[in-house]
Amino acid sequence: MIAPVLPTYARAPLHFVKGEGSWLIEADGRRFLDMGSGIAVNALGHAHPDLVAALTEQAGRLWHVSNLYEIPQQEALAARLVETTFADTVFFTNSGTESCELAVKMARKRWHDAGQPQKTEILTFDGCFHGRSSAAIAASGAPKMVDGFGPVLPGFTHLPWGDHDALHAAITDTTAAILIEPVQGEGGIRVLPEQCLKGLRALCDEKGILLILDEVQCGMGRTGRLFAHERAGVTPDIMMVAKGIGGGFPLGAVLATEAAASGMVAGTHGSTYGGNPLGCAVGLAVLDHVADPSFLDNVTARGAQLRDGLQALVTAHPHVFDSVRGLGLMLGIRTRCAPADMVRAGYDQGLITVPAADNIVRLLPPLTLSAAEADEALRRLDAAAATLAPEPA
Ligand SMILES: *Cc1c(COP(=O)(O)O)cnc(C)c1O
Repeated sequence: MIAPVLPTYARAPLHFVKGEGSWLIEADGRRFLDMGSGIAVNALGHAHPDLVAALTEQAGRLWHVSNLYEIPQQEALAARLVETTFADTVFFTNSGTESCELAVKMARKRWHDAGQPQKTEILTFDGCFHGRSSAAIAASGAPKMVDGFGPVLPGFTHLPWGDHDALHAAITDTTAAILIEPVQGEGGIRVLPEQCLKGLRALCDEKGILLILDEVQCGMGRTGRLFAHERAGVTPDIMMVAKGIGGGFPLGAVLATEAAASGMVAGTHGSTYGGNPLGCAVGLAVLDHVADPSFLDNVTARGAQLRDGLQALVTAHPHVFDSVRGLGLMLGIRTRCAPADMVRAGYDQGLITVPAADNIVRLLPPLTLSAAEADEALRRLDAAAATLAPEPA
């Protein structure tokens, strides 16, 4: 008999009833160090007092009004994002998937309205993940995403990661945009080298196509910059955001330049909940912390500390671990066993990590992680690895 909850997730038998900072707590009081943050969502950890205050204060006043009316919290958050990023304008969504939908629509509409309606094709890269809607799975093209859900939406061309020749060959007069994650999350913490990001920007300018960056997972301070692309000194035309921007409240956004957004006039897009007062009140409180340079310094410092520690674990457990990759607090340790086995061994040590493709175990802790917590995470990962290492001969 089918479960009351549609069984699309293979869930771990963990039941958290409370969160405190970097910790998740089960009903019996058992504490887990949370190095997953709900997959890069709880950027300020659990139950951050400023977020609790922002949410409860707004909840006591007004939960929802339609986007038929002005929403001051939404205008304030958009203004802050415009002030702190490349963007001239922002549309709020409730998830990364919805941000993907709008990014694709916006790119096509921009060329349509510019008298180049043939420019509809979006170029994407293997290992990418942009969400679970019909457009987002078509963007991925991976068999495990699309099999059984056909007909797959046309308009996406899938390219090998890192193959410059294939990319150049794929650009035609029907190409609308390149869509890429500056650091692939689900794909296994694959960092797009700075040079490649610069190269993509130059290529888009040369060919007259849009650069769409998916910063749903790597944005909002995760890599030690407010947005991951900043390290390359180039900017996108359109950027998808979600996850960390709401700190655990469902919130997403599409940020864009004025030119890229020029087709999105009144009536071309909408959302009932997107940019609601609750989400935007929380988003403002999150951004107050994450946009602070000293906050980002902590991300960089804790990232370096964890990375060094992970490197030492690779040396200590060569039969379990292979290598370390990532940026800031978006780190991956490559395992020689199934990453799911490593994640399970972590649960037994009271440690939450997240598996990804390419044999990666992800560490995506709250960006508020302390130095002592980083050390504790490394100790627990060390203990977990010891349970998986083969018996010495
Ligand atoms: C999680 C994720 C998405 C989808 O976000 P949802 O909020 O689950 O819809 C899209 N892109 C990237 C890079 C993601 O990590």
